[in-house]
Amino acid sequence: MSTINDVIEVMKKYDKDCDTSLVMKAYEFAESSHEGVFRKSGEPYIIHPVEVAYILAELECDSETVAASLLHDVIEDTNHDYDEVKSVFGETVANLVDGVTKITKLNYTSAERQQVETYRKMFVAMAKDIRVILIKLADRLHNMRTLDAMSPAKQKIKSRETLDIYAPIAHRLGIYTIKMELEDLSFRYLEPEKYNDLIKKVAETRAERHEFVNTLIDTLSKKLDHEKLEYSISGRPKHFYSIYKKMEGGKNFGEIFDLIAIRVLVDTPADCYAVLGWVHTLWKPMPNRIKDYIAMPKSNKYQSLHTTVIGPGNKPFEIQIRTYEMHKVAEYGIAAHSLYKEGAKGADELGEWLRWLQDIRDMDSEDLEEIKHDLEMDEIFVYTPKGKVIELPADATPIDFAYRIHSDVGNKCIGAKVNGKIVPLNYRLKTTDFVEIITKADSKGPSRDWLNFVVSNHARSKIRAWFRKAAKEENVIKGRDMIERELKNNKLTLSDIMKNEYLDFICDRFNVSGWDDLFSSIGYGGLRVRYVLGRIIERFPQDFPQEEVKPTLVKAPKSEKDNVVHIQGNNDFAVKFAKCCMPVPGDPIIGYITRGRGVTVHRADCVNMLHSDEKDRFISVDWIDKPKSAQKSQFSSELVIRAIDRNKLLSDVATLISNEGVSISGISSRMMKDSTVNMNIDVVISDTEQLDRLIAKLELIQNVLSVHRI
Ligand code: MN
Repeated sequence: MSTINDVIEVMKKYDKDCDTSLVMKAYEFAESSHEGVFRKSGEPYIIHPVEVAYILAELECDSETVAASLLHDVIEDTNHDYDEVKSVFGETVANLVDGVTKITKLNYTSAERQQVETYRKMFVAMAKDIRVILIKLADRLHNMRTLDAMSPAKQKIKSRETLDIYAPIAHRLGIYTIKMELEDLSFRYLEPEKYNDLIKKVAETRAERHEFVNTLIDTLSKKLDHEKLEYSISGRPKHFYSIYKKMEGGKNFGEIFDLIAIRVLVDTPADCYAVLGWVHTLWKPMPNRIKDYIAMPKSNKYQSLHTTVIGPGNKPFEIQIRTYEMHKVAEYGIAAHSLYKEGAKGADELGEWLRWLQDIRDMDSEDLEEIKHDLEMDEIFVYTPKGKVIELPADATPIDFAYRIHSDVGNKCIGAKVNGKIVPLNYRLKTTDFVEIITKADSKGPSRDWLNFVVSNHARSKIRAWFRKAAKEENVIKGRDMIERELKNNKLTLSDIMKNEYLDFICDRFNVSGWDDLFSSIGYGGLRVRYVLGRIIERFPQDFPQEEVKPTLVKAPKSEKDNVVHIQGNNDFAVKFAKCCMPVPGDPIIGYITRGRGVTVHRADCVNMLHSDEKDRFISVDWIDKPKSAQKSQFSSELVIRAIDRNKLLSDVATLISNEGVSISGISSRMMKDSTVNMNIDVVISDTEQLDRLIAKLELIQNVLSVHRI
């Protein structure tokens, strides 16, 4: 168990000027805050933040990070708030604590989608200050180390989350020490039998393996001594989870010779290459197993030379050669990087890390599987025409490459050359390819079928974003034109409609986020302009006197309709049927005397009538009863069907309607934000009886949630 003095002792080793008083003050604050609180294990709570601080001190973190880690549960679990922490420890520490608190709050569920959400939020927080994520990783590591105190169910949930989210993050940040421990601990709780079995096997073969490794180390040491080189050498045990993964991949335990890798640390990169040469004079290298991560560092900054050689008894084993400096980065990753201490924003060398984080945040609907896939994919290295090395996922195409260079290069790409020859855009790049992108300044933009072959989420999300944006701009203009034209027909202008007091209603009613969204929905045909105007007028009748909305009334063929309605006292009026409520025989109705234009028939429950303050213009009207045979299907009505989309839904609906002898005069359907589909169907029917029967039958169609008449 570590104490606060242990933490400070470790800190002094890497930073003589570390702010011990800040750390001590944080410790005292945390201790008194958590006083009387105990962990599930029964220990005083303060042990947890101290252990977390110790982990961070081992990663050589700065004083503020260590102080914040001591306080990391203070806002969440005690009655101190952000302002208080800020007034005592300053803004930086308070922001770090606050960042960790926010991430922690997002951690509760184990449902996969929720985890992705957490994942993204974490990165948002992290991109603001990378130290927040270091604290969170250390927090998780200590919680995993003490997971025994939790219930078995909780152990599994936490382990799954750790393996899916925290270990990949540690990997991406290059913090291998934490990554490996998180993986081994998760493995232990998720697959206890396999874990114990593996431990046993490793233990059983330990003596034999040690002898093998010692022989190798002896041989190599003699050679390096002979060459008078300063070096250190060790046998590095592989962590259990990576052995397990190899066995999952179909290898027998006995076949995994690289349970231990030999690691040589030297002073300079030149020494690394020299050692590689000497190694190859001692043992025969396996073809294609030499990896030069010094010339081509991994995206998480890992640098090293790897070679697998054939050792005594034809057993292959791996040797890793790197400098002490590279080793520090290999173990501590981004934590070893002094730059993060000055804030991660914009720092050039952090660009690679942050680019990956950016990708995650840009993602719209990609799920965890895809992210995991991305993480596990092998990498390839290709060159720009200027010889810069670009890392891409395996099977990447010139399009992936183009978007990695810059989204503008991707969007304007019209062709590609690989090693000087023109290739198709879906060509699969290989390591060491020289790639040149041909762009055209006035290119129309990406092609949709690129989405079928790009492999990087980065390219995919950029292409999608382009289409979302382009489609939107064009449609906004088109939709605005359409609505303006329709308004003009009604002697109205855009300013009559674009009123702030309408906005809430419009967003709510049409499922849009604002005016542009409304216009773009109209522009691409998701909403019909007359429908939109009709609903606005219906909702705000006081702003649209009947006279003005006359064109939205349907002029009925006079000879027929005049004979279906009886107007009280006087039958000389020309009759029209209101478009806003579309009455059909059987509906209770009411007449409205228009200024010199006759009588408009509304449904008695029409909103326009209920809100009208011109009740003196109302006149009582009745349907004239006629024998069925004499009735004609001539009344327009509009149905709204809400359904969960499925194959052939629309055709089933249309078939049913026509089987009922009802004709359709218009259909539009649109996807709603909750993934249901809304269909507006204009039908021509004879009376409410037929309409009610139709609605009842429509409601029985599979996946239909509701059917309403407007
Ligand atoms: Mn904690």
